[in-house]
Amino acid sequence: MPNPAALELVALSKRYGATTAVDAINLRIAAGTYCCLLGPSGCGKSSTLRMIAGHEAASDGDIILGNQNVTDLPPARRGTAMMFQSYALFPHLTVLDNVAFALKMRGVDKTTRRSKASELLELVAMTPYAGRLPTQLSGGQQQRVALARALITEPQILLLDEPLSALDPFLRIKMRAELKRLQRELGITFIHVTHGQEEAMALADLVVLMNGGRIEQMGSPREVFNRPRTAFVARFIGGHNVIETSGGAIAVRADKLALYPGLGQAGIAGAVTDVEFQGTFVQVVIKTEAGDELIAHLGEAAFDARPVAVGDAVTATWDATQAHGLA
Ligand code: ADP
Repeated sequence: MPNPAALELVALSKRYGATTAVDAINLRIAAGTYCCLLGPSGCGKSSTLRMIAGHEAASDGDIILGNQNVTDLPPARRGTAMMFQSYALFPHLTVLDNVAFALKMRGVDKTTRRSKASELLELVAMTPYAGRLPTQLSGGQQQRVALARALITEPQILLLDEPLSALDPFLRIKMRAELKRLQRELGITFIHVTHGQEEAMALADLVVLMNGGRIEQMGSPREVFNRPRTAFVARFIGGHNVIETSGGAIAVRADKLALYPGLGQAGIAGAVTDVEFQGTFVQVVIKTEAGDELIAHLGEAAFDARPVAVGDAVTATWDATQAHGLA
């Protein structure tokens, strides 16, 4: 493998006619990073990924890989490889030939490309399936083959567009761990597009949360979760209450709220509308007098100390040090 390089996006924009899909974003991703582009549908994640891959031309700005400006290079000459959402394996080629395909296109001789393809099948634990056709594989197995196929060109950056969305929840969590393992083993950068905050939190070294074509916040999962910059981030990441106060909006984590029966305390008064046992905590939903919804995650002991039921009047309080100001 060549030494992996840092990727830099400089004022990168994508416009489709009158639609600005990506709006002058600046982003530096250090070599060997697991980066998740996260955000709601339509926020510009895929357009960003496709521009990095070279499948979509940038409208403005630059894409720098290492010390090379790759903005205008064709996909095969960038040092990136893309794994698509639909794995798009060639149905008439065996697993081994699917994986070797990119090397065949590059004129690599048969022995070399087959040996390289075998190595990659080993890496993704698919060696026993080398002679099968894609239709003889499960969804998860096809995905491993697609991964091996993308990796055979020894990219410095692997681009993954919603790679787990077609899998059932059980397999998704299993493959998620495998992606992370692969990325660690290979030491290259993965840029993974997802709209699932849990997936991004679980995988990423660097979360880049996009909104309306811009980067709303970036940082490690813990930074983004513990210090959401805006109400949008707090709401999208989940697990937070966004509360309007006289001094502006604040975020308070659901697990930092305490509930007291009755309306006597200082805090926010409301009525309990839902109580759900969730295993390690009890989720209580409160409708405030202003009509907003608050969510409290109470440990079992805290819940048992002051149990509440649907219809109860309660006051929600929090320690001032747990309130986090939003921009
Ligand atoms: P995401 O991946 O976050 O869902 P996209 O990058 O696919 O977002 O899309 C961003 C915006 O650009 C959306 O408003 C979308 O409708 C628009 N868009 C994406 N691709 C095209 C296209 N080929 N032609 C026109 N508009 C597009």
